[in-house]
Order: sequence, then structure tokens, then C-alpha cells
Amino acid sequence: MVVKINENYLKLKSSYLFVEVARREAEFREAHPDADVIKMGIGDVTKPLAPAVVEAFGKAVDEMGNADTFMGYGPEQGYEFLADAIIKNDYEPLGISLDTNEVFISDGAKCDTGNIQEIFGIDNKIAVTDPVYTVYVDTNVMAGRTGEMGEDGMYEGLTYLKCNAENNFVPELPAEPVDIIYLCYPNNPTGTTLTKDQLKVFVDYAIENKAIILFDAAYEIFIREDNVPHSIFEIEGAKEVAIEFRSFSKTAGFTGTRCGYTVVPKELKAYDSEGNAVDVNPLWNRRQTTKFNGASYPVQRAAEAVFSPEGKKQINDAIDYYMENAKIIRESLSDIGLDVYGGVSSPYVWVKTPNDMDSWDFFDILLNEANIVGTPGSGFGPSGEGYLRLTAFNTLENTKEAMDRISKLEF
Ligand SMILES: *Cc1c(COP(=O)(O)O)cnc(C)c1O
Repeated sequence: MVVKINENYLKLKSSYLFVEVARREAEFREAHPDADVIKMGIGDVTKPLAPAVVEAFGKAVDEMGNADTFMGYGPEQGYEFLADAIIKNDYEPLGISLDTNEVFISDGAKCDTGNIQEIFGIDNKIAVTDPVYTVYVDTNVMAGRTGEMGEDGMYEGLTYLKCNAENNFVPELPAEPVDIIYLCYPNNPTGTTLTKDQLKVFVDYAIENKAIILFDAAYEIFIREDNVPHSIFEIEGAKEVAIEFRSFSKTAGFTGTRCGYTVVPKELKAYDSEGNAVDVNPLWNRRQTTKFNGASYPVQRAAEAVFSPEGKKQINDAIDYYMENAKIIRESLSDIGLDVYGGVSSPYVWVKTPNDMDSWDFFDILLNEANIVGTPGSGFGPSGEGYLRLTAFNTLENTKEAMDRISKLEF
């Protein structure tokens, strides 16, 4: 007898992207130690926590150090005070009513979007958009829902919904039936959005086909367009077919602080092998209470402060700052004749490479000739080939300087 590993892990082809970006950047810096490299590649915020958040965080830490107010294990699903604040601020204004037991607070949306597949059967057919936030793909590979990755960069058994300039980044419904569809809007990496009508097409598909939509709304706060839904539950019937993921990471700079939440409506059903409807909410509750012990109390108090009047103002100022950067990126690149997408309701701008060069060639030109680090679109899936992602998570000065440099290049 020898110990066996989970061979599904051997199918994984990822981590190549950011490792390769870092390798090329390091190589460039070594050859050009004096170069002022501007990083516009990583999807991480750059502004610190808002003062209102820091104050609440600190106060809660003090409570933890005092015998009278110390808190031990909290509810695995999160504290009622935060679930209440989420419902009151993120859903009620949209006309969506939820109970606190439909909101599951966690240490972030990456874990939740990665873990959610556990409560669904192994033989479900999965669809993802292409390009994609790779967590959705890799967690299904790990679970064994795919075969090997083919020459075309796609895992066997997975359905890829192509998003490119030809279809205006609006995915078409899957050609063959699927059971679970991952959607992320505003999208990472393309920065594009779906209108209510475009999202309704997917909700109607799910209702008709007894499928489920896993809707990642991590970038909801960046929405600036009127007809773009802030929650999938704005679409009629969505509570019967969708789970929504949100995060304080991009919203309020919590990437290093860690807090997110997942809404699993009580109306949501999946089916057992005999075709009987089963409630999904209690299954996620069971999964979380078994494998997760809750986000920390100070972090949840800090997240609650995001919804205070001062917190809201400070956070919206930070988002406005990033969105000004996004606007500058969009306009500067359009002005020099590049095709740009996204960046209107998203901190990401998706740039078509000039002269149809491939993503890595454009990456190298930007690095070597303008000392700017982007992220090659091909790293997010085969349909990302020929694009590059730039992020607005930077200072205004760096953003302007980067655009000045790109504007001087000849393509
Ligand atoms: C950043 C991001 C998240 C948030 O992840 P956290 O674990 O909450 O930091 C979720 N989904 C997408 C698509 C993201 O880009």
C-alpha cells in the first residue's frame, strides 16, 4: 500500500500566469535597476482602510482585550449585526428582501466561490465564461468535474462561453445543456457588464432548465451605468435559481483584512438522483458550520462600519478615485487608437492588442518600452488571447505617467 494523492490536482495548469508575469518583471528589473516600473497588473487595491473602518476595527480589538466584552467563537454564519447591515444597505434599497439566515458571512469571496461546488453533485455540467476568474475553473478541476486540459487551453468536460469584441463581451447561452453557470459581473478580467435584459436571459435559462447560476458580484460598488443590475436578485425569479457572492475586498479595501458574504435564498432548490427538489440553503449552512468557524469579530465590526454614514462617504470617495483612473486609462488609450473595453463600471480596462499581436508580445512591449506591467489576457482563458488587462488600482500620478508613456509608443 502507498498513499495516493488526488490526481485531479495533477490536471491543474494554472498559477503559470502570475508566476510568469513576476518572472518577466524581475528579469527586466535586474537588467534595468533604475527603471521606474509602474504595476498595473495585479487585482489588488492600493488605498488604505477608511478611517471609520479603522476606528471600528480598533474598538472591537479593545473589546477582545477586556474580560467584560471579550468574544470567543461567534456564529459560523456571521454575526446578526453584520447580516442586518448588509440586508438593510445592499439589498433593501434594491427592493430585495432577505432574512439574515440567507446571508452567510465569510472571510472572502474567493473561498466561497471556490467551496460552493462541494454541495453540488460531481456529475453536474459546468459552464464558465471565457476569459474567466480562474478560481471557478480550478476548483471544479480539483473536484474531478473535468478531464485534462486540451491543446486549445480548455479542460475537457467544461463548457466555455466565449466573451470577446465580436459578441460585445455578452456570453451566449450554452449550446449543450448545463447545470451550473458561473457569472461574474462587473466582470473580472474584462471589466464589462451585463444589462438587466442580458442577465435575465440567463435567469430564464436557469428557470427553464432547472440549472443554478453562481453570481459573483465582487465589483458591484463600481457600477456606474443605470441599466446594470447591482444584484442578480433584481431579476424576476432569480431567488429560485441563483446564489450571489459579494466581498468587502474591492469595495472597502479588505483584501488583506478578509470579509465577504454569500446569499443563498431559501427558495433555491437543487435535485437528488430521484428528481426530488432539495433546499440548498440548509446544505450550505451545514457545510459552513462543519468546515468554517466564522470571520473574526473585529473584522465583522470593521465591515459593519463600511455601512455607517462616514464609512459610506469615505469608501465612495476611494471608489471615485479609482474610477477616475479607469476613465483616464480608457480615454488615453482610445485617443491613440487602441480598442478598449470595460472600465466604465469596473476598475479593469481590457485592451485589444494593436495589430493583432498576441497578449504576451504586447505585455513585453509595455514592459520593455514603457516599463508598465499589465496582465496578458490569454492567462484568463483562450478567448483572452489578443487582449491585455490594466487596472485602475494605482495612484492618479502613476496612472497619468503610465498613459503618457504608452501614448509615446509607436505600434
Ligand atoms: C477579487 C475578487 C474576489 C474577492 O475575493 P476575496 O476573497 O473576497 O478577496 C472575488 N471574485 C472575483 C472575480 C475577484 O476578482
